[in-house]
Amino acid sequence: MTDYDVIVVGAGPSGSISAKTCAEKGLSVLLIEKRQEIGVPVRCAEGVSKKGLERFVKPDEKWIASEIERAEIISPSSHRVVLSAEKAGNEVGYVLERKVFDRYLAMLASRAGSNVLTKTSAVYIKRENGIVRVGIRSMGEEEELTAKIVIGADGVESRVAKWVGIDTTLKLNEIESCVQYLMTNIDFDPSTTYFWIGKKYAPGGYIWLFPKGKDSANVGIGVMPALAERDAKWYLDRFLKENFPEGEIVEVVVGGVPVKGAIDTAVSDNVMLVGDAARHTDPITGGGIVNGMIAGYLAGLTAYEAVESGDFSERFLRRYDERWKAEFGESLVRNKKLQEKMLKLEDSVLDRLIESVKGIPIEEMSVKRLAYEIFKKHPRLFWDLREFII
Ligand SMILES: Cc1cc2nc3c(=O)[nH]c(=O)nc-3n(C[C@H](O)[C@H](O)[C@H](O)COP(=O)(O)OP(=O)(O)OC[C@H]3O[C@@H](n4cnc5c(N)ncnc54)[C@H](O)[C@@H]3O)c2cc1C
Repeated sequence: MTDYDVIVVGAGPSGSISAKTCAEKGLSVLLIEKRQEIGVPVRCAEGVSKKGLERFVKPDEKWIASEIERAEIISPSSHRVVLSAEKAGNEVGYVLERKVFDRYLAMLASRAGSNVLTKTSAVYIKRENGIVRVGIRSMGEEEELTAKIVIGADGVESRVAKWVGIDTTLKLNEIESCVQYLMTNIDFDPSTTYFWIGKKYAPGGYIWLFPKGKDSANVGIGVMPALAERDAKWYLDRFLKENFPEGEIVEVVVGGVPVKGAIDTAVSDNVMLVGDAARHTDPITGGGIVNGMIAGYLAGLTAYEAVESGDFSERFLRRYDERWKAEFGESLVRNKKLQEKMLKLEDSVLDRLIESVKGIPIEEMSVKRLAYEIFKKHPRLFWDLREFII
């Protein structure tokens, strides 16, 4: 086929859920992926919340590496606070095996009726007479396809956004530069994820350890290039030398995570952006799997309505903007503001903050209880952060 209702560019979680949703609604769909193997190489710590994941797929042991019960946050002076997985946000609950998970989602899209092409890149997009011409390079051959709608699910380096003039540019303080090792020969509790916070560890970001089974874990770092004096690898290697000197590295991952917060619009005539391409990642944690899947579903739904009504204009597609903003836009705005405040906190303040809440038992830990403890022990800090904790 050369003519589709929808072409989805990129078969990460956002793209596969977009394609699946469109196909389930009866649209003709092509999902293209530039890599020869979907999900490889992995550029992710693979953490996801149970609730967020289970909204879209039934968990399957084939692609769940670990089930997580709690998250431990460690301050620069090693004060520790423990949160239950449910309270720890969108990235704690399961640790996935994304190599298998991403492929599984693409398979669901295919089962729903999408055509799927790997080793196939979109190389240009032209909009003419109300339709889109999509240039692709597939297995070395160039071809032009047409579609009524293109969904740009092409990740942090999205070219679809550039081709259609949606402004998603990232400044040096709007991206986290990340390095991660899959490590063995280290000690950790396999049902806990760990987060080391503070400038000492990772300027503008944090260090994480996400277990993958009992014997290995993703240990990684994100730093903000605008705030860091060295590159991310330097900080991670220093941390490992001090904390896991015996650890062995079996895989290395590098990548960027947008932490820009909500963009004004993720649509243009005939085009919608989803997931990392639309900067849907959380500005504090850098997590983007769940928001990407939500956006993919909403873009698929909107594509169906657009095809039904024969209207592919930016004006019509704005309902997709309204939908993703209603789902998680507010939390992107709020977490961007909180991130900006947190970047200004000195390590000594983070230490005091974690110290003041570290005694709260995990079953009593709630936002209310946190707010109370901070209010009691650090009234000025409470005042500064009040809009985020009340
Ligand atoms: C080190 C690191 C750790 C992370 N940890 C977590 C975590 O623990 N939890 C979490 O929720 N998020 C995490 N993230 C973020 C998460 O990986 C992304 O938010 C998520 O993958 C976004 O999904 P996506 O489908 O939008 O984009 P991607 O998964 O990036 O998929 C985009 C796809 O598009 C393809 N593509 C690009 N250009 C083209 C083209 N021209 N033609 C065809 N195909 C193209 C790419 O090859 C890629 O497969 C992490 C990111 C990094 C870098």
